[in-house]
Amino acid sequence: MKQTNISVFVLHNGCPHRCTFCDQRTISGEVKAPSADEVRTLLNEQLQVLRAHNTRAEIAFFGGSFTGIERGYMVSLLEAAHEAVTAHPEVYCGIRCSTRPDFIDEETLDILCRYGMTAVELGAQSMNDEVLRLNERGHTAADVERASGMIKRRGLSLGLQMMTGLYGDKPGYCLETAERFIALGADTVRIYPTVILEGTRLGELYKSGEYRTFGFDETVELCAKLLRMFGEAGIPVIRLGLHASRDVEQRMLGGVYHPALREIAESRIFFEDMHSEMERLGGHSFTVYTDPANISKMIGQKRENKEKLHSMGFDFTIKTEQGTRLRIENAL
Ligand code: SF4
Repeated sequence: MKQTNISVFVLHNGCPHRCTFCDQRTISGEVKAPSADEVRTLLNEQLQVLRAHNTRAEIAFFGGSFTGIERGYMVSLLEAAHEAVTAHPEVYCGIRCSTRPDFIDEETLDILCRYGMTAVELGAQSMNDEVLRLNERGHTAADVERASGMIKRRGLSLGLQMMTGLYGDKPGYCLETAERFIALGADTVRIYPTVILEGTRLGELYKSGEYRTFGFDETVELCAKLLRMFGEAGIPVIRLGLHASRDVEQRMLGGVYHPALREIAESRIFFEDMHSEMERLGGHSFTVYTDPANISKMIGQKRENKEKLHSMGFDFTIKTEQGTRLRIENAL
């Protein structure tokens, strides 16, 4: 059975923070906060759709700092979600939310657990305190560690979100952040390369020339490393890059935004693995076996991998092999 999220976008109106990359102040007047009854209606409507597609769903309160919103409002949304999970457990299999690490305490977790929360995602963004300070996050890496420990001790799934290329960031800091996420026992991870939006502090810094984020190639190389690290640790990366959005495209000033970013990063990993295996085997002509699902990533966008390897003196033909990620033999 497939699984998906039914996302309920809850902006943190009145958020006291001023994170450099955030545009919630700009858009909060334009997006209406959903009422508990609107959530009930949404979940009822989606019930039929999910059943028709033989799909289960988690109800996901995303968009801001769920546990920082007005408490009565938060509880009303949780009640609506909990009703759906209780009435239709065969379809609605859990509730998840995203929030800030410093908006997690035992009392808040008591409430979340009472209403059947199954996963909490923390917007950690970086585990480097200087990067957090420069980007006015208003919390430290120690807050992420403290909140992560509390979430894990409750038996909830811990999601950690990181950004790359923030003001003051370096690729090495991002790799350290990934190492610390792994040490914290993250169950899932999301990676968001920074997109600089009009109307944000980062936008001002970018326009003044004081801030340059990582370039596209640098970001692809970094994301490939991060995917490899989390993959080796057995931690699913459930999102890489912002969702495709016309709004983001219209309002972005700079940064890295590409609808196929994950595919491009995975393709980079295939290139590295093919190259090192061909070097190890020796020779110039190879047969490469892989599952049909991997072929486009293996060849690369615009045949980039194939052509790069060719320019290095390696040629290969691909044969499909169900369930195989990568197996290479010298061609006969
Ligand atoms: S990203 Fe920062 S400023 Fe934006 S809503 Fe979250 S905490 Fe507030």
